[in-house]
Amino acid sequence: MNGPSQFPEQLIPMMNIFIFILGACIGSFLNVCIWRLPRNESVVSPPSHCPKCDYLIPWYDNIPLVSWLVLGARCRKCKVQISPRYFLVELLTGYLFLLVWIKVLTLGQPAVFIFPYFFLVAICIVTIFVDAEHRIIPNEITYAGIIVGLVLSVLWPELWVPQHRKWIVPERLISFMFSAGSMLICVFLMAAVSISGKFLFKKDAMGWGDVKYIGAVAALIGIPACFFTLLFGSLTGSMYGIFLMVFRKRKLRSAFPLGPFLAAGTLIWIYFGEIILNAYLEISRKISLAPPF
Ligand SMILES: [Zn+2]
Repeated sequence: MNGPSQFPEQLIPMMNIFIFILGACIGSFLNVCIWRLPRNESVVSPPSHCPKCDYLIPWYDNIPLVSWLVLGARCRKCKVQISPRYFLVELLTGYLFLLVWIKVLTLGQPAVFIFPYFFLVAICIVTIFVDAEHRIIPNEITYAGIIVGLVLSVLWPELWVPQHRKWIVPERLISFMFSAGSMLICVFLMAAVSISGKFLFKKDAMGWGDVKYIGAVAALIGIPACFFTLLFGSLTGSMYGIFLMVFRKRKLRSAFPLGPFLAAGTLIWIYFGEIILNAYLEISRKISLAPPF
């Protein structure tokens, strides 16, 4: 289970296809979340239906990627146009899932690493589309992220604890404490920033949705990912704010959603985190002349 050598090579092409299809199916469910969560509707019932004519969509019209193309982006009954977002989200989820799988395989990480990454990719996609349109990050996905992160840490301690070390306390407990501790530290720090920002500027600098989002990232993959997410999110977010002010003549501090920028930062960390971390350590080693880690 640990690394590419232990995974039978003949099976890899088949696994690639399977992971892509799995991603597209999850993407189909994310489409439901993107539409229903901001409208406070249940994501399980009623079953998928056309928002215009209420036509209950049968399984053969609900096949990820395929149905949208076969039906020509229209409802079978009333022919109303179906947004390209449905196709895009399914394609994007399939592709990002495949990239996660390839990364874990290439780096020889324990295969179970795909689970927190998959869950986080799903959270990022929902955050990007929902926050951009409705300016909220739904509690359902951030709370789910925190709970899933904690559960995974108990199920598979190797997500947090190096296998070759001997610990006095049970591994599962240490792993759980790492996940819960990362989440609590990040949530407290972010809450402090949010409250002091509100106190200083009399305006919401950072919403509670953003705070909980960072909590979910921390519980799933740890604090370094949160640092990068915040750095990337606030830099690109303020560049976007300046762009709005200069070219669109918006007022200073006119509100725009931060979530999509944070989610983009998280996605970059998921795929390039190890490279970024190594580059950072290499640079700080060179300039500080400190003994290497
Ligand atoms: Zn219809």
